[in-house]
Amino acid sequence: MMLRVVPENSGQLVPLDRAVPGNESPASLFGLDAAALAGVLAGEGEPSWRADQIVEAVYHQYISDISSITTLSLDLRRKLAVRGWQIGRPEITKAFRSADGTERYLIHCAGPKAETVETVWMPDGDGGETGDGSNDESGASDEIRASDEIRASDETRASNETKDWRRATICVSSQVGCAVNCQFCLTAKLGLQRNLTAGEIAGQVVAVLDRHAVRVGRDRVNLVFMGMGEPFLNYDNFMAAVRLLVHEVGLSPQRMTVSTSGVVPGIDRFAQEPPDLRPKLAISLNAPDDKIREAIMPINRKWPISSVIDAVRRVRLRPRERITFEYVLLGGVTDRPEHAREVARLVRRTGLPAKVNLIAWNPGPDFHYATPKQETAEQFRAALVAEGIPAYIRQPRGRDIFAACGQLKRTVEG
Ligand code: SAH
Ligand code: SF4
Repeated sequence: MMLRVVPENSGQLVPLDRAVPGNESPASLFGLDAAALAGVLAGEGEPSWRADQIVEAVYHQYISDISSITTLSLDLRRKLAVRGWQIGRPEITKAFRSADGTERYLIHCAGPKAETVETVWMPDGDGGETGDGSNDESGASDEIRASDEIRASDETRASNETKDWRRATICVSSQVGCAVNCQFCLTAKLGLQRNLTAGEIAGQVVAVLDRHAVRVGRDRVNLVFMGMGEPFLNYDNFMAAVRLLVHEVGLSPQRMTVSTSGVVPGIDRFAQEPPDLRPKLAISLNAPDDKIREAIMPINRKWPISSVIDAVRRVRLRPRERITFEYVLLGGVTDRPEHAREVARLVRRTGLPAKVNLIAWNPGPDFHYATPKQETAEQFRAALVAEGIPAYIRQPRGRDIFAACGQLKRTVEG
């Protein structure tokens, strides 16, 4: 059951799995915003400013154990633990490192329905999130071992002294598995296991910030909600996670991008969010017309391309903001020059500043699709550019460890 511990009108709504500890299992402080934490502390007879100390410890210092929050008195730390509170942040249990520096993590989300999700760290970006399509790999260390499984321990946690990246992108999951069933995507094969809570979505980010000793506000870190799952089919938890990451962790929504496969009611809700409190929007277009899209994305039967475009037109953009259209190039299926001209026509119909990110299909077992040649991808891009549409080819990151787009299915080998 979902309980809410803050009043409906607080504007800080964070849905919780359980607002109070139960008899058997502890409840998590992680995932609660400052107002909700103040509520918990009031219940323990503590002043509300203690909530700021917990915010500082959990969201800024990345402390993951109540006993280590030394700003709280020993008595209070003990009392919270006895009452059944824990920090309960999702934790990295396994890490795989690619030859290109990308790391893929299996992250354990505890609780009554314990699950493992996947999160990806891409040092020096993924070439798509900044909009310039650049993919400067010069920051990657030569010493990185190819496809090497590394233990998630303090020994491997980076410190600022050993930092070998100048900017980074974290790819975050919003659900365990996915129900949308796109025919080219490995995550689809898992089906939908369950939605993630706000704390589990934001917790992936904080676990990764912790691992790489990221200094929020000083280091350049982008978030892309493009991991497992369809964020707009878990809308409330997804947006609550964004608010937590903005208000409590201190990340900028302008450095976040959410990608949807075209869930129109979700895009409509997104259009109502305050522009300064929402990520940028990416739409997985992936096909030049309804016929092809329907064949590869069953969701198109419910929300065809024109309904997605109409919804996108209702989003009010920030100054200089652009909508991104993602387009998976499937060899022989979606990668012909005439497809590029159709895509250009669709993008123009939005009437909004837009760009197209092209993603050559990342392979997986038991698929009958083909990855197009680099030359074909270049020609597709050139055709879009000739039509006046900015287009970029996103370089695959971490394909060797199943970390690239559409490859997240909790593969345990790297
Ligand atoms: N579910 C959301 C976000 C996660 S998928 C969505 O679909 O938009 C992120 C991107 O990866 C999407 O644009 C999707 O079309 C693309 N993708 C999925 N499988 C892929 C594959 N095998 N190769 C390349 N891109 C893929
Ligand atoms: Fe789900 Fe996105 Fe994969 Fe489609 S591409 S199955 S929406 S994760």
